[in-house]
Amino acid sequence: MKRLIQLVAIIMALLVPHSINARTGVTYSPSASGFSVETNSDAQQVKLRIYKDGLGGKPVKTVNMKRAKAGSSLWEATVKGDLKGKFYTFDVKYGGKFRGESAGIWATAVGVNGKRGAIVDMAQPNPLGWNTDKRPAIAAKDLIIYEMHHRDFSIDESGGFTYKGKYLALTEPRAISHLKTLGVNAVHILPSFDYASVDETRLNEPQYNWGYDPVNYNVPEGGYSTDPFKPEVRINEFKQMVQALHKAGIKVILDVVYNHTFNIDDSNFQLTRPDYFFRKNTDGTYSNGSGCGNETASEREAMRQFMIESVKYWVEEYHIDGFRFDLMGVHDIETMNAIRAALPNDIFIYGEGWSAGSCAIPGEQLAMKAHITQMPGIAAFSDCMRDGLRGPWDSDTKAAFLGGVKGNEESLKFGIVGAIRHPGIDYSKVNYSKEPFALEPTQMIAYVSCHDDMCLVDRLKASVKGITTEELIRLDLLAQTVVMTSQGVPFMLSGEEMLRDKKGVHNSYNSPDSINHLDWDNLERYPQVMEYYKNLIAMRKVHPAFHMGNADMVRRNLDFLPTENCLVAFHINGKNVPGEQWGDIYVAFNAHKRARTIEIPEGTYTIVCRNIKCDQGGMGIVKGGKVTIPAQSALILHN
Ligand code: CA
Repeated sequence: MKRLIQLVAIIMALLVPHSINARTGVTYSPSASGFSVETNSDAQQVKLRIYKDGLGGKPVKTVNMKRAKAGSSLWEATVKGDLKGKFYTFDVKYGGKFRGESAGIWATAVGVNGKRGAIVDMAQPNPLGWNTDKRPAIAAKDLIIYEMHHRDFSIDESGGFTYKGKYLALTEPRAISHLKTLGVNAVHILPSFDYASVDETRLNEPQYNWGYDPVNYNVPEGGYSTDPFKPEVRINEFKQMVQALHKAGIKVILDVVYNHTFNIDDSNFQLTRPDYFFRKNTDGTYSNGSGCGNETASEREAMRQFMIESVKYWVEEYHIDGFRFDLMGVHDIETMNAIRAALPNDIFIYGEGWSAGSCAIPGEQLAMKAHITQMPGIAAFSDCMRDGLRGPWDSDTKAAFLGGVKGNEESLKFGIVGAIRHPGIDYSKVNYSKEPFALEPTQMIAYVSCHDDMCLVDRLKASVKGITTEELIRLDLLAQTVVMTSQGVPFMLSGEEMLRDKKGVHNSYNSPDSINHLDWDNLERYPQVMEYYKNLIAMRKVHPAFHMGNADMVRRNLDFLPTENCLVAFHINGKNVPGEQWGDIYVAFNAHKRARTIEIPEGTYTIVCRNIKCDQGGMGIVKGGKVTIPAQSALILHN
């Protein structure tokens, strides 16, 4: 019997996969702090240094760490005494040389500029009432996502914010009431983990960056806090932001950039485990699928585990509601599916289904848009719909549907159904995807603009010759009506509701505030824009026909009217959509500079959107038969 038990134990040990220590770093208690760091197997020595400050000064203590057990790549040390408020670094020796100090890959608190880990009692910085904070219950099909940068949103005087460019701006009544009035229910914040390109020691000077240059993945960026020198402040303020948005029923989605680091040599990855986390080409050079000089290796066990544990951490510690994966196409499918499986079902996951260069693993393993059918529960941006509306990504001056260019109709239709298979679409005429990429419509992000490329106003100005302000507004509203009536998950760039522009700058990743800021006075200059967006979003929310969330239901109940050049129209049988109050719904988009007509069955229809006005309460009646759609606008009717 004893031998049998031993045998079972041996078999069990063989079956359990080799476990890695996913979360290392520091564990604090008032009597002692434990430190751990995972290295490559050929590490020779690891020094732990304790500092009084986050930057500068000599170590107050240096400790030689010990292997957890003989042959282990996990190194540990325990330091007695209350170390709260102190800082630490690891320094690993390979080939007789120390690589240099770092906070390790698993710091959850850091000093200024993220150079040293910080010893913090993680429960202490919690804002009052944090324990009762909950993720709002909003299904994927009901999401309306607002993509924003902290500094764009609140830096300008016109906004009247107290905490300009900070996390705390999103706790201010002005922010909350604007978002609620607009009606969005998820805020997607551009990178808000600790990144490199803003020097946190001189925040009194204007510095701008989107933040796609990760340093510490599991710590909020210090530049958006009121005091980056005090490690607990950013943690507290980030949580206050989440709490305020959650109280308003708004989800918080984090833009995550696991596909590359700021640089290779100084990265926490490279300093602790040289060459483990980055992919290399066969000639030994680093692969650059990110276009930023390197690409991480999600297919390797410790990198995969790092990504899984990191997103879980943001959900558990910061109550994050969703993740937008930057260049998701650099990661492998298996990792994305493992992340999906590791997170609660209500966490929304989407990403860019492409890379910025070729990657050093076989293409069929990459989490590209074309592979979304292999990743249930994960969505991808639809560049088909975006470019079908505004024009191709490789030229700012080329127009598409919005500019009256024919031939983009099937790309729009592809976006309207949420990139699923639908009998009414000729996929051979879709601009990029020659077949559906989504199993369910919630696997497609519907959008016309985001932080990348020109914003909508600039693109329209650059691509539509001689455009007047009136036309600009008409086309802007037409574009967002396509987005907001798509069966995909609608997504908008912050500021579009106030007709933002970036003075024509295509890539504003480090442009000054004068380019990137929202001008809140535009709300008074163009009140009709915000009014329309608000009413359009409100209509989408109340009417399940516009977000059925199920591919079969969309196929059964949505059909297209005959398509003409620059004119797309569809019908939804609302009677078959659970919870829908409207019967037959007709939606038409006319990008011509003159009015066009569509033919609908005889009957009496209520107009809810016509000639750049939208009101779900009704704006008059129209009889069936030939119905007119004014120039450059959308029409929505129902009976
Ligand atoms: Ca930083």
